[in-house]
Amino acid sequence: MQRQKIREIVIGTNNKGKLREIRDLIPKKVKVLSLKNITAKSPKETSKTFKGNALLKAKYYSKLTGKICLADDSGLEIDLLNKAPGIYSARWSGKKNDFNSAIKKVFKKINLKDKNWKKRNIKARFKCALSIYGPRFKTVSVIGKIEGTISKKKLGSRGFGYDPIFIPIGKKITFGQMRPEMKHKIDHRFKAFKKIRKFF
Ligand code: IMP
Repeated sequence: MQRQKIREIVIGTNNKGKLREIRDLIPKKVKVLSLKNITAKSPKETSKTFKGNALLKAKYYSKLTGKICLADDSGLEIDLLNKAPGIYSARWSGKKNDFNSAIKKVFKKINLKDKNWKKRNIKARFKCALSIYGPRFKTVSVIGKIEGTISKKKLGSRGFGYDPIFIPIGKKITFGQMRPEMKHKIDHRFKAFKKIRKFF
């Protein structure tokens, strides 16, 4: 199937921050719709992969709206923790979305694996899967990632989630210390978006 250029798209997220970030990446000529007027529960993220969960969300919201839909799934992988929290990154923050406690959990688990971890680099990466699904559109799923390390302590108050403990490769500061304009030029979401830009 020939892929037509997308003229109108639903962003399949209830997260206002993500909606704003994704909206900023999409060319202005495209009509971007949110889930604002749709009162539906989010689907259960039952897949074991980022791509699987992004696709499941894109399909779900496309079927609900009858339109082409873009959805994402993202998270932080820490090598020493066998890639945890991974697809469970949001879930580690609990029902209250408390990332102070999620970050404490990260440090606790790393400490349990290696008491001397501060003497070495703990490799990690953020990953973002983006999927587009909809009528008369050949499904696409891509992954973007940014490699880095876990900082020895929480640093910076910008961004969200695990930003204060992630130092991207080649930089000396965490995402939490970085200006958002700078983060958004190098991060996993931007890299994933570059791969689907041609469809707009
Ligand atoms: P989901 O994609 O909504 O399932 O959740 C992704 C989770 O991964 C977020 O709640 C954050 O905890 C984490 N995450 C994803 N991208 C970032 C980022 O750019 N900075 C910090 N944390 C992130």
